[in-house]
Amino acid sequence: MAFLLSFLYLRLVEQQRYILHADLDSFFVSVERILDPSLVGKPVIVGGSANRGVVASCSYEARAFGVHSAMPSKQAQKLCPQAIFVSGSSAEYSRYSKWVSSIIADMTPLYEKASIDEFYIDLSGMEKFFGCYSYGQKIRSRIMEETKLPISFGLSANKMIAKMATNQAKPNGHLFIPQEKILDFISPLSIRKIPFLGEKTEQVLNQTGVKTIAELREVSLEKLVKQFGKQGMFLYNSARGINRSLVEPYQESKSLSVERTFDIDTNQKEWLEKVIVMLAEKLAQELRKEEMLTSCITLKLRFPDFKTITKQTQISYTASTKKLTESLLHLFQDFYKTGTKIRLLGIRFSELIKGNQQSEMFNEEQTDLYKAIDEVKLKYGFGKISVAENLDMGNVKRNQDVRSASEKDE
Ligand SMILES: [Mg+2]
Repeated sequence: MAFLLSFLYLRLVEQQRYILHADLDSFFVSVERILDPSLVGKPVIVGGSANRGVVASCSYEARAFGVHSAMPSKQAQKLCPQAIFVSGSSAEYSRYSKWVSSIIADMTPLYEKASIDEFYIDLSGMEKFFGCYSYGQKIRSRIMEETKLPISFGLSANKMIAKMATNQAKPNGHLFIPQEKILDFISPLSIRKIPFLGEKTEQVLNQTGVKTIAELREVSLEKLVKQFGKQGMFLYNSARGINRSLVEPYQESKSLSVERTFDIDTNQKEWLEKVIVMLAEKLAQELRKEEMLTSCITLKLRFPDFKTITKQTQISYTASTKKLTESLLHLFQDFYKTGTKIRLLGIRFSELIKGNQQSEMFNEEQTDLYKAIDEVKLKYGFGKISVAENLDMGNVKRNQDVRSASEKDE
Protein backbone atom coordinates (compact mmCIF):
# COMPACT_ATOMS: atom_id res chain seq x y z
CA MET A 1 0.00 0.00 0.00
CA ALA A 2 2.76 2.42 0.98
CA PHE A 3 4.54 1.52 -2.22
CA LEU A 4 1.40 2.22 -4.24
CA LEU A 5 0.86 5.53 -2.49
CA SER A 6 4.43 6.69 -3.04
CA PHE A 7 4.18 5.58 -6.65
CA LEU A 8 0.99 7.60 -7.08
CA TYR A 9 2.60 10.54 -5.33
CA LEU A 10 5.61 10.40 -7.63
CA ARG A 11 3.34 10.23 -10.67
CA LEU A 12 1.49 13.25 -9.36
CA VAL A 13 4.69 15.21 -8.74
CA GLU A 14 5.98 14.27 -12.16
CA GLN A 15 2.84 15.43 -13.90
CA GLN A 16 2.85 18.77 -12.21
CA ARG A 17 6.38 19.88 -12.92
CA TYR A 18 6.90 23.14 -14.76
CA ILE A 19 10.52 23.88 -15.51
CA LEU A 20 11.60 27.04 -17.23
CA HIS A 21 14.99 27.28 -18.92
CA ALA A 22 16.23 30.79 -19.71
CA ASP A 23 19.32 31.60 -21.74
CA LEU A 24 20.71 35.03 -22.62
CA ASP A 25 21.13 35.37 -26.40
CA SER A 26 24.80 35.56 -27.50
CA PHE A 27 25.44 36.96 -24.03
CA PHE A 28 28.97 38.35 -24.39
CA VAL A 29 28.06 40.05 -27.68
CA SER A 30 24.93 41.56 -26.14
CA VAL A 31 26.95 43.06 -23.29
CA GLU A 32 29.53 44.42 -25.76
CA ARG A 33 26.69 46.07 -27.69
CA ILE A 34 25.45 47.81 -24.56
CA LEU A 35 28.99 49.09 -23.94
CA ASP A 36 29.44 50.09 -27.59
CA PRO A 37 26.16 50.56 -29.48
CA SER A 38 28.03 50.93 -32.79
CA LEU A 39 28.32 47.10 -32.75
CA VAL A 40 24.56 46.64 -33.06
CA GLY A 41 23.53 44.88 -36.26
CA LYS A 42 27.11 43.96 -37.20
CA PRO A 43 28.89 40.59 -37.22
CA VAL A 44 30.71 40.59 -33.88
CA ILE A 45 33.05 37.93 -32.51
CA VAL A 46 34.13 37.89 -28.86
CA GLY A 47 37.28 36.03 -27.87
CA GLY A 48 40.65 35.76 -29.50
CA SER A 49 41.75 37.99 -32.33
CA ALA A 50 41.76 37.52 -36.08
CA ASN A 51 44.97 35.50 -35.70
CA ARG A 52 44.74 33.49 -32.50
CA GLY A 53 42.46 32.11 -29.81
CA VAL A 54 38.97 30.69 -30.11
CA VAL A 55 35.53 32.23 -30.55
CA ALA A 56 33.84 32.56 -27.14
CA SER A 57 30.64 34.09 -28.46
CA CYS A 58 29.47 35.47 -31.79
CA SER A 59 26.53 37.52 -32.98
CA TYR A 60 23.78 36.02 -35.10
CA GLU A 61 25.07 38.13 -38.02
CA ALA A 62 28.39 36.24 -37.73
CA ARG A 63 26.62 32.90 -37.31
CA ALA A 64 24.98 33.46 -40.70
CA PHE A 65 28.47 32.98 -42.18
CA GLY A 66 28.94 29.67 -40.38
CA VAL A 67 30.89 31.05 -37.43
CA HIS A 68 30.18 29.33 -34.10
CA SER A 69 31.64 29.35 -30.60
CA ALA A 70 34.70 27.19 -29.91
CA MET A 71 35.82 27.67 -33.52
CA PRO A 72 39.44 28.84 -33.97
CA SER A 73 39.32 32.62 -34.49
CA LYS A 74 41.50 32.31 -37.57
CA GLN A 75 38.91 30.09 -39.25
CA ALA A 76 36.12 32.47 -38.18
CA GLN A 77 37.97 35.36 -39.79
CA LYS A 78 38.22 33.45 -43.07
CA LEU A 79 34.50 32.68 -43.06
CA CYS A 80 33.51 36.22 -42.16
CA PRO A 81 36.30 38.71 -43.02
CA GLN A 82 34.16 41.72 -42.13
CA ALA A 83 33.63 40.46 -38.56
CA ILE A 84 34.59 42.82 -35.75
CA PHE A 85 36.73 41.06 -33.13
CA VAL A 86 36.31 42.16 -29.53
CA SER A 87 38.71 40.90 -26.89
CA GLY A 88 36.01 40.87 -24.21
CA SER A 89 35.16 42.55 -20.92
CA SER A 90 34.87 39.64 -18.51
CA ALA A 91 34.29 41.78 -15.41
CA GLU A 92 31.26 43.33 -17.14
CA TYR A 93 29.96 39.87 -18.08
CA SER A 94 30.10 38.84 -14.41
CA ARG A 95 28.32 42.02 -13.37
CA TYR A 96 25.49 41.54 -15.89
CA SER A 97 25.21 37.86 -15.02
CA LYS A 98 24.74 38.74 -11.34
CA TRP A 99 22.20 41.39 -12.26
CA VAL A 100 20.08 38.85 -14.16
CA SER A 101 20.45 36.37 -11.26
CA SER A 102 19.19 38.94 -8.80
CA ILE A 103 16.05 39.60 -10.88
CA ILE A 104 15.33 35.87 -11.13
CA ALA A 105 15.97 35.44 -7.40
CA ASP A 106 13.54 38.25 -6.73
CA MET A 107 10.77 36.69 -8.83
CA THR A 108 11.10 32.95 -8.23
CA PRO A 109 11.33 30.64 -5.24
CA LEU A 110 13.74 28.08 -6.73
CA TYR A 111 16.28 28.51 -9.48
CA GLU A 112 19.56 27.06 -10.64
CA LYS A 113 22.32 29.03 -12.28
CA ALA A 114 23.59 26.52 -14.80
CA SER A 115 26.24 28.82 -16.23
CA ILE A 116 27.07 32.50 -16.55
CA ASP A 117 24.11 33.09 -18.89
CA GLU A 118 21.78 30.16 -18.32
CA PHE A 119 19.15 29.43 -15.66
CA TYR A 120 16.64 26.75 -14.73
CA ILE A 121 13.64 27.86 -12.74
CA ASP A 122 11.21 25.47 -11.05
CA LEU A 123 7.74 26.99 -11.35
CA SER A 124 5.90 23.83 -10.26
CA GLY A 125 2.93 24.66 -8.08
CA MET A 126 2.72 28.22 -9.35
CA GLU A 127 0.27 27.25 -12.09
CA LYS A 128 -2.46 27.37 -9.44
CA PHE A 129 -1.87 31.09 -9.03
CA PHE A 130 -0.58 32.26 -12.41
CA GLY A 131 -0.18 30.67 -15.77
CA CYS A 132 3.46 29.53 -15.74
CA TYR A 133 3.94 30.55 -19.36
CA SER A 134 2.70 34.09 -18.84
CA TYR A 135 4.76 34.32 -15.66
CA GLY A 136 7.81 33.25 -17.68
CA GLN A 137 7.10 36.09 -20.08
CA LYS A 138 6.91 38.49 -17.14
CA ILE A 139 10.33 37.37 -15.90
CA ARG A 140 11.74 37.74 -19.40
CA SER A 141 10.25 41.22 -19.91
CA ARG A 142 11.64 42.46 -16.63
CA ILE A 143 15.14 41.15 -17.40
CA MET A 144 15.07 42.80 -20.83
CA GLU A 145 13.67 46.08 -19.53
CA GLU A 146 16.14 46.42 -16.66
CA THR A 147 19.34 45.02 -18.15
CA LYS A 148 18.60 45.61 -21.88
CA LEU A 149 19.90 42.10 -22.58
CA PRO A 150 17.95 39.85 -24.97
CA ILE A 151 16.96 36.52 -23.42
CA SER A 152 15.00 33.49 -24.63
CA PHE A 153 13.22 30.84 -22.62
CA GLY A 154 11.57 27.47 -22.94
CA LEU A 155 8.98 26.02 -20.58
CA SER A 156 8.14 22.35 -20.24
CA ALA A 157 7.80 19.47 -17.82
CA ASN A 158 11.52 18.84 -17.35
CA LYS A 159 14.94 20.44 -17.70
CA MET A 160 15.89 18.71 -20.91
CA ILE A 161 12.77 19.63 -22.88
CA ALA A 162 12.80 23.17 -21.47
CA LYS A 163 16.38 23.62 -22.73
CA MET A 164 15.49 22.17 -26.12
CA ALA A 165 12.52 24.53 -26.30
CA THR A 166 14.79 27.51 -25.56
CA ASN A 167 17.16 26.44 -28.32
CA GLN A 168 14.26 26.29 -30.77
CA ALA A 169 12.94 29.67 -29.59
CA LYS A 170 16.28 31.47 -29.97
CA PRO A 171 17.06 34.24 -30.65
CA ASN A 172 14.81 36.54 -28.71
CA GLY A 173 11.85 34.20 -28.31
CA HIS A 174 10.00 31.83 -26.04
CA LEU A 175 8.25 28.50 -26.38
CA PHE A 176 6.00 26.36 -24.18
CA ILE A 177 5.88 22.61 -24.71
CA PRO A 178 3.13 21.07 -22.56
CA GLN A 179 3.67 17.52 -21.29
CA GLU A 180 1.29 16.01 -23.87
CA LYS A 181 3.10 17.74 -26.77
CA ILE A 182 6.61 16.63 -25.84
CA LEU A 183 6.80 13.68 -28.22
CA ASP A 184 5.40 15.72 -31.14
CA PHE A 185 7.99 18.37 -30.41
CA ILE A 186 11.09 16.18 -30.20
CA SER A 187 10.30 13.45 -32.76
CA PRO A 188 11.30 15.31 -35.96
CA LEU A 189 14.37 16.94 -34.38
CA SER A 190 17.90 15.76 -35.10
CA ILE A 191 19.50 13.74 -32.29
CA ARG A 192 22.07 16.55 -32.23
CA LYS A 193 19.44 18.66 -30.46
CA ILE A 194 19.54 16.42 -27.37
CA PRO A 195 21.46 18.45 -24.76
CA PHE A 196 24.78 16.91 -23.67
CA LEU A 197 24.79 14.31 -26.44
CA GLY A 198 28.40 14.11 -27.59
CA GLU A 199 29.55 14.50 -31.16
CA LYS A 200 31.05 11.00 -31.11
CA THR A 201 27.77 9.42 -30.00
CA GLU A 202 25.95 11.34 -32.70
CA GLN A 203 28.34 10.03 -35.36
CA VAL A 204 28.01 6.44 -34.18
CA LEU A 205 24.22 6.70 -34.22
CA ASN A 206 24.23 8.36 -37.64
CA GLN A 207 26.29 5.46 -38.99
CA THR A 208 23.56 3.05 -37.92
CA GLY A 209 20.98 5.19 -39.75
CA VAL A 210 19.63 7.01 -36.68
CA LYS A 211 19.32 10.73 -37.45
CA THR A 212 16.14 11.93 -35.75
CA ILE A 213 14.86 11.48 -32.23
CA ALA A 214 11.91 9.48 -33.62
CA GLU A 215 14.41 7.07 -35.17
CA LEU A 216 16.33 6.86 -31.89
CA ARG A 217 13.09 5.78 -30.18
CA GLU A 218 12.98 2.75 -32.48
CA VAL A 219 16.24 1.39 -31.03
CA SER A 220 15.78 -0.99 -28.10
CA LEU A 221 17.18 -0.24 -24.66
CA GLU A 222 19.16 -3.46 -24.82
CA LYS A 223 20.87 -2.43 -28.03
CA LEU A 224 21.62 1.08 -26.74
CA VAL A 225 23.14 -0.19 -23.50
CA LYS A 226 25.18 -2.75 -25.40
CA GLN A 227 26.52 -0.09 -27.71
CA PHE A 228 26.90 2.88 -25.35
CA GLY A 229 27.07 1.39 -21.86
CA LYS A 230 25.74 3.69 -19.16
CA GLN A 231 24.87 6.35 -21.71
CA GLY A 232 22.41 3.93 -23.31
CA MET A 233 19.81 4.59 -20.65
CA PHE A 234 20.23 8.35 -21.11
CA LEU A 235 19.65 7.98 -24.85
CA TYR A 236 16.63 5.72 -24.31
CA ASN A 237 15.01 8.22 -21.93
CA SER A 238 15.94 11.24 -24.02
CA ALA A 239 14.25 9.73 -27.07
CA ARG A 240 11.07 9.62 -24.97
CA GLY A 241 11.44 13.12 -23.55
CA ILE A 242 12.07 11.72 -20.08
CA ASN A 243 14.46 13.55 -17.79
CA ARG A 244 14.30 13.45 -14.02
CA SER A 245 17.12 15.79 -13.05
CA LEU A 246 16.13 18.36 -10.47
CA VAL A 247 16.62 22.08 -10.43
CA GLU A 248 19.55 22.52 -8.05
CA PRO A 249 19.00 25.59 -5.92
CA TYR A 250 21.56 28.29 -6.45
CA GLN A 251 23.05 29.80 -3.36
CA GLU A 252 24.92 33.01 -3.80
CA SER A 253 26.58 32.36 -0.45
CA LYS A 254 28.02 28.95 -1.27
CA SER A 255 31.77 28.97 -0.84
CA LEU A 256 34.91 26.91 -0.51
CA SER A 257 37.53 27.83 2.03
CA VAL A 258 40.76 26.61 3.53
CA GLU A 259 42.96 27.99 6.25
CA ARG A 260 46.17 27.24 8.05
CA THR A 261 47.17 28.06 11.61
CA PHE A 262 50.93 28.27 12.02
CA ASP A 263 52.83 26.55 14.80
CA ILE A 264 54.83 29.71 15.28
CA ASP A 265 53.56 33.20 14.48
CA THR A 266 55.49 34.50 11.50
CA ASN A 267 56.23 37.75 9.70
CA GLN A 268 58.28 36.29 6.85
CA LYS A 269 56.48 37.85 3.92
CA GLU A 270 57.93 35.59 1.26
CA TRP A 271 57.01 32.49 3.20
CA LEU A 272 53.45 33.76 3.74
CA GLU A 273 53.17 34.33 -0.01
CA LYS A 274 54.22 30.77 -0.62
CA VAL A 275 51.52 29.56 1.73
CA ILE A 276 48.98 31.60 -0.25
CA VAL A 277 50.16 30.03 -3.50
CA MET A 278 49.79 26.53 -2.06
CA LEU A 279 46.40 27.15 -0.50
CA ALA A 280 45.19 28.75 -3.74
CA GLU A 281 46.29 25.76 -5.75
CA LYS A 282 44.59 23.35 -3.38
CA LEU A 283 41.34 25.28 -3.41
CA ALA A 284 41.41 25.92 -7.16
CA GLN A 285 41.78 22.18 -7.71
CA GLU A 286 38.75 21.62 -5.51
CA LEU A 287 36.85 24.25 -7.47
CA ARG A 288 37.61 22.54 -10.76
CA LYS A 289 36.78 19.14 -9.33
CA GLU A 290 33.33 20.45 -8.45
CA GLU A 291 33.08 22.09 -11.88
CA MET A 292 32.58 25.50 -10.41
CA LEU A 293 33.85 29.00 -11.07
CA THR A 294 34.29 31.73 -8.48
CA SER A 295 33.91 35.48 -8.79
CA CYS A 296 34.77 36.55 -5.27
CA ILE A 297 37.98 35.81 -3.37
CA THR A 298 38.70 36.53 0.27
CA LEU A 299 41.93 36.55 2.20
CA LYS A 300 41.82 36.17 5.96
CA LEU A 301 44.63 37.04 8.35
CA ARG A 302 44.63 36.46 12.11
CA PHE A 303 47.19 38.14 14.30
CA PRO A 304 48.81 36.84 17.53
CA ASP A 305 46.20 38.76 19.60
CA PHE A 306 43.44 36.88 17.71
CA LYS A 307 42.31 40.02 15.94
CA THR A 308 41.17 38.89 12.49
CA ILE A 309 40.82 40.84 9.30
CA THR A 310 39.38 39.77 5.97
CA LYS A 311 39.84 41.42 2.62
CA GLN A 312 37.63 40.61 -0.34
CA THR A 313 37.75 41.34 -4.04
CA GLN A 314 35.47 40.73 -7.01
CA ILE A 315 37.02 39.10 -10.05
CA SER A 316 35.59 37.72 -13.28
CA TYR A 317 34.36 34.11 -13.07
CA THR A 318 37.30 31.74 -13.15
CA ALA A 319 38.76 28.46 -11.91
CA SER A 320 42.24 29.21 -13.13
CA THR A 321 44.93 28.64 -10.51
CA LYS A 322 47.05 31.33 -12.13
CA LYS A 323 44.35 34.00 -12.04
CA LEU A 324 43.24 33.12 -8.51
CA THR A 325 46.77 33.04 -7.16
CA GLU A 326 47.64 36.37 -8.73
CA SER A 327 44.52 38.04 -7.34
CA LEU A 328 45.17 36.65 -3.85
CA LEU A 329 48.78 37.80 -3.91
CA HIS A 330 47.65 41.28 -4.95
CA LEU A 331 45.23 41.37 -2.05
CA PHE A 332 47.96 40.27 0.33
CA GLN A 333 50.49 42.78 -0.99
CA ASP A 334 47.90 45.55 -0.75
CA PHE A 335 47.07 45.08 2.87
CA TYR A 336 49.78 43.19 4.66
CA LYS A 337 51.95 45.50 6.74
CA THR A 338 55.54 44.33 6.52
CA GLY A 339 56.79 43.04 9.83
CA THR A 340 53.37 42.16 11.29
CA LYS A 341 53.25 38.67 12.74
CA ILE A 342 50.55 36.33 11.46
CA ARG A 343 48.98 33.47 13.37
CA LEU A 344 46.52 32.18 10.79
CA LEU A 345 46.08 32.61 7.07
CA GLY A 346 42.98 31.57 5.15
CA ILE A 347 41.46 31.96 1.72
CA ARG A 348 37.89 31.61 0.51
CA PHE A 349 36.25 31.43 -2.91
CA SER A 350 32.59 32.47 -2.95
CA GLU A 351 29.78 33.46 -5.35
CA LEU A 352 30.29 30.14 -7.07
CA ILE A 353 28.53 29.07 -10.21
CA LYS A 354 28.72 25.89 -12.26
CA GLY A 355 31.73 26.16 -14.56
CA ASN A 356 30.75 26.45 -18.16
CA GLN A 357 32.68 25.90 -21.30
CA GLN A 358 31.81 29.29 -22.71
CA SER A 359 33.41 31.34 -20.00
CA GLU A 360 36.33 28.95 -19.65
CA MET A 361 37.09 29.32 -23.31
CA PHE A 362 37.02 33.00 -22.79
CA ASN A 363 40.03 32.78 -20.51
CA GLU A 364 42.58 31.65 -23.00
CA GLU A 365 45.08 30.43 -20.45
CA GLN A 366 42.53 27.96 -19.13
CA THR A 367 42.82 25.93 -22.29
CA ASP A 368 46.22 25.00 -20.92
CA LEU A 369 45.49 25.03 -17.25
CA TYR A 370 48.27 22.74 -16.14
CA LYS A 371 50.83 24.80 -17.93
CA ALA A 372 49.56 27.82 -16.02
CA ILE A 373 49.90 25.97 -12.72
CA ASP A 374 53.45 25.02 -13.58
CA GLU A 375 54.26 28.62 -14.48
CA VAL A 376 53.11 29.79 -11.07
CA LYS A 377 55.11 27.02 -9.43
CA LEU A 378 58.20 28.02 -11.36
CA LYS A 379 57.73 31.67 -10.54
CA TYR A 380 57.37 31.10 -6.83
CA GLY A 381 59.35 27.92 -6.62
CA PHE A 382 57.46 26.56 -3.64
CA GLY A 383 57.93 23.00 -4.81
CA LYS A 384 61.58 23.25 -3.83
CA ILE A 385 61.30 24.55 -0.30
CA SER A 386 61.38 22.05 2.49
CA VAL A 387 58.92 23.89 4.70
CA ALA A 388 56.23 23.24 2.10
CA GLU A 389 56.41 19.51 2.63
CA ASN A 390 55.66 19.91 6.29
CA LEU A 391 52.69 22.16 5.79
CA ASP A 392 49.41 20.69 6.80
CA MET A 393 47.05 22.44 4.46
CA GLY A 394 43.95 21.64 6.45
CA ASN A 395 40.63 20.48 5.11
CA VAL A 396 38.61 22.31 2.55
CA LYS A 397 35.42 23.60 4.08
CA ARG A 398 32.19 23.87 2.17
CA ASN A 399 30.30 26.72 3.62
CA GLN A 400 26.66 27.37 2.85
CA ASP A 401 26.41 30.51 4.88
CA VAL A 402 29.43 32.68 4.36
CA ARG A 403 28.04 35.92 5.64
CA SER A 404 27.28 34.71 9.12
CA ALA A 405 30.57 32.83 9.28
CA SER A 406 32.58 35.90 8.43
CA GLU A 407 30.65 37.99 10.92
CA LYS A 408 31.73 35.61 13.62
CA ASP A 409 35.31 36.10 12.54
CA GLU A 410 35.36 39.79 13.25
MG1 LIG B 1 23.43 32.06 -24.01
